[in-house]
Amino acid sequence: MLQNILLERKIYASEEHKMMQAMIQEFIANEVLDQVDEWEKNGMVSREIWKRAGELGLLCIDMPEAYGGGGLDFTFNALLIEEFAKKGISGPGFSLHSDIVAPYLLNYGTEAQKQKYLPLMAKGDIITAIGMTEPNCGSDLKALRTTAVDKGDHYLVNGQKTFITNGFMCDMAIVAVKTNPNTEEEGVTLLIMESSIEGFTKGIPFKKIGMKSQDTCELFFDNVKVPKENRLGDEKMGFKIMMKELARERLTVGIFAVATAEGAIESTVEYTTQRTAFNTPIAGFQNTQFKLAECSTQMQIHQTFLDRCIELLVDHKLTSESASMIKYSATDMCGNVVDQCLQLFGGYGYMWDYPIARMYADNRVARIYAGTNEIMKILIARGLFKDILK
Ligand SMILES: Cc1cc2nc3c(=O)[nH]c(=O)nc-3n(C[C@H](O)[C@H](O)[C@H](O)COP(=O)(O)OP(=O)(O)OC[C@H]3O[C@@H](n4cnc5c(N)ncnc54)[C@H](O)[C@@H]3O)c2cc1C
Repeated sequence: MLQNILLERKIYASEEHKMMQAMIQEFIANEVLDQVDEWEKNGMVSREIWKRAGELGLLCIDMPEAYGGGGLDFTFNALLIEEFAKKGISGPGFSLHSDIVAPYLLNYGTEAQKQKYLPLMAKGDIITAIGMTEPNCGSDLKALRTTAVDKGDHYLVNGQKTFITNGFMCDMAIVAVKTNPNTEEEGVTLLIMESSIEGFTKGIPFKKIGMKSQDTCELFFDNVKVPKENRLGDEKMGFKIMMKELARERLTVGIFAVATAEGAIESTVEYTTQRTAFNTPIAGFQNTQFKLAECSTQMQIHQTFLDRCIELLVDHKLTSESASMIKYSATDMCGNVVDQCLQLFGGYGYMWDYPIARMYADNRVARIYAGTNEIMKILIARGLFKDILK
C-alpha cells in the first residue's frame, strides 16, 4: 500500500533491477526467513547461506567480473541491502563483506591481493571482516593500540579488536594497526590478516540487544606474523584510506535504515488494517492514520536524498558530509518510525516473533556503529567551518 504513494525510484527503474529484486525476494522468502530462528539460537548464520548467496551472484555484485564479481554498479548492492532490511533480517553480514571489505581490496590492493581474495569472496568461499575498533578506542580511531613491528619480511602483530561484524565466522579481516610504534614513523596501516594464521584467535559472539544472528565478536592477535605482501596500501596510509572508505560504509547504514522504515510502515499498515478495537480497525483511528502519514513522509523525504547519495556514490562523487548526513538523519528517522510503528502493534509489537520487534532491537545500533551520529555531526560541521576550524 505504501507503494501507492511513494515516488518512483529511478535508480531501480531498469528491467535488470526488477529481475534482481524478484530473485532476492524469492531467495529471502524460500531460503532465509525460515532459518532466522535457528541462526539466532546459534548466534550466527550458516556458512551455507554465504555459499548460496555466492551461487546466486549476490556477493560482490559491483566488483569487476575479472575478479569474480557481478560487474554491475552499486545500485544493485543497494537493492540487496534494502530487501533484507525491509524484512527485518540483520544476520548475514553480506553488506560488510561486499560493500566495505571488497572495495578496500579493489581500490587499494595489489593485483595479487585482488586475484587472491576477491573471487573467493564473490563465491562465498571466504567470509571477511574489518577490524578498526578496539576496547579503548572507537570514535577516536587514531588512538588504536594494536601494533605491527617490522621484522623484515613480515610484521609482528599484537593487540585486540572488538565489536567486529562477521568476526567469529571470518576467514580474513582487514585490520588497522600502528606500524613503527613509538617512533617518528608511527602511523596507522592496514593489514590483510587470515584468521587461520598462528596467534589469531576469536572471542565468542557477543550477546547483543539485537542483531542476534550476527556473529559480532572480539579478535585477538598474539605475536601474529603477517607477511609484508599482506599490507593493504602503503604504511601510514591506513587512516586516510579508512576516512575515504567510511563514506561508503555510512551510506550502506543509511540504506538499511530507510528500507527498514519502509518495511516497518508497510507491515504496520497491514497489521492495523486487520486488527480491531472498539469494533473498528486500528487503521480507522485518526491517531493511527496521522502517525503513519508522518512516518511515510519522513521515510519518503529520506529516500529521495538517499537515492541522490547512491547516484553520487556510483559516480564516485559522494562526499564525507553527504554520507554523514544520510547516516545520522536516516538512522534517527528509522529509530523514530520503528518506535511509532511498534506502538501501533500494541502488545504484539513487543513479541519477538513479530518482525517489528526485531527491527526495533536491531536498528538501535545504527545510530552507534560506522561512526556514531555525534561523530557524523562533527564531520558535517567540519565541512561547514572548513576554512575556520583546523
Ligand atoms: C553491533 C556492532 C557492530 C560493529 N561492527 C564493527 C566492525 O565490523 N568493525 C569495527 O571496527 N567496529 C565495529 N563496531 C564498532 C563501532 O563502530 C563503534 O562502537 C563506534 O564507532 C563507537 O565507538 P565506541 O563504541 O568506542 O564509543 P566511544 O568512542 O567510546 O563513544 C562513546 C560516546 O561518546 C560520544 N563521543 C565520542 N567522541 C565524541 C566527541 N568528540 N564529541 C561528542 N561525542 C563524542 C560517542 O558519540 C558516544 O555517544 C561495531 C559496533 C557494534 C555495536
